[in-house]
Amino acid sequence: YQAKSGTDNVVMFNPTMHQSLVIRHAIEDDIRNALKDKRFEIWLQNQMDNTGTAVSAEALVRLRKRDGGITAPSEFISIAEASGLIVPLGRWILQEACSILRQIGSNRPDYGISVNVSPQQFYAPNFASDVLTTLDHFGVTPGNLTLEITENLLVQEITETSKIMGRLADRGVRFSVDDFGTGYSNLHYLSQLPIKELKIDRGFISQIPEDTSSIAIVETIFAMARRLDLDVVAEGVEKNVQFSFLKNFGQMRMQGFYFAKPMETKTWLEYHLETHSTSAFGEIDY
Ligand code: C2E
Ligand code: MG
Ligand code: MG
Ligand code: MG
Repeated sequence: YQAKSGTDNVVMFNPTMHQSLVIRHAIEDDIRNALKDKRFEIWLQNQMDNTGTAVSAEALVRLRKRDGGITAPSEFISIAEASGLIVPLGRWILQEACSILRQIGSNRPDYGISVNVSPQQFYAPNFASDVLTTLDHFGVTPGNLTLEITENLLVQEITETSKIMGRLADRGVRFSVDDFGTGYSNLHYLSQLPIKELKIDRGFISQIPEDTSSIAIVETIFAMARRLDLDVVAEGVEKNVQFSFLKNFGQMRMQGFYFAKPMETKTWLEYHLETHSTSAFGEIDY
């Protein structure tokens, strides 16, 4: 077929579009099969306090391919969301996170784990009661679980959002706004919803120290968080100069390749169960 340039026909016969649809279906099948075959994995990336001590971690999902390779979440999360498969997948991720919290509980009673929650999962029926049941089942202190949501979720249906978050926050579950600074700019929700933490987007952190406007934005977010009594996490810390810069702002947590990459649960657990003292970064070779 010879496409006539400038006509709509081009779109209908575009082989790339056809291929992407095929790929989307293939990935959807892959997600379904991986749920059945238990080929999803949780990887954990540590979060450090100002002194560089690991005090919490973010749970990040990966799909193990049949050939042993790893598929990154960027390749399947949006398809899981669009197909509704994020609901069973998200439920499994929460169970894994609670199981991990349970396993480190006696060694590290204050250690926190953050779990990303998609809007489709958050608004699915029974989300709040599922989370509470899972916490009870594993005997996990709710305050050790943080749910990361994005600003776009927060502005969707404030009444419904407030009801769901309220049920969980009343029991002690923490909420963090992920990728803060990149979404909707109306900050009204910060005073209406039980948010505990802002996670400054990597896009701002990576510009430190070269870009003065990024520095100004990070300083402003930090000042606002202090006034609102919110915790701050900086994500995407890759360089020593960023760490030095951020730790002088005041108390915060930092996450990034400079400290640690996400690692497999097994490796992470071995390390966190074996060490009894708190771990200074740099002591472990990731
Ligand atoms: P996110 O929640 O903002 O997670 C942080 C991402 O940044 C992770 O990518 C992490 O590996 C990466 N990262 C951490 N430190 C650095 C750094 O210093 N430099 C750079 N360049 N990257 C860094 P990952 O694991 O590929 O996840 C990508 C996104 O996929 C996540 O962004 C989140 O939106 C989504 N995602 C991951 N796991 C889950 C999950 O269990 N459920 C849901 N709903 N979404 C998830
Ligand atoms: Mg996150
Ligand atoms: Mg993020
Ligand atoms: Mg992100």
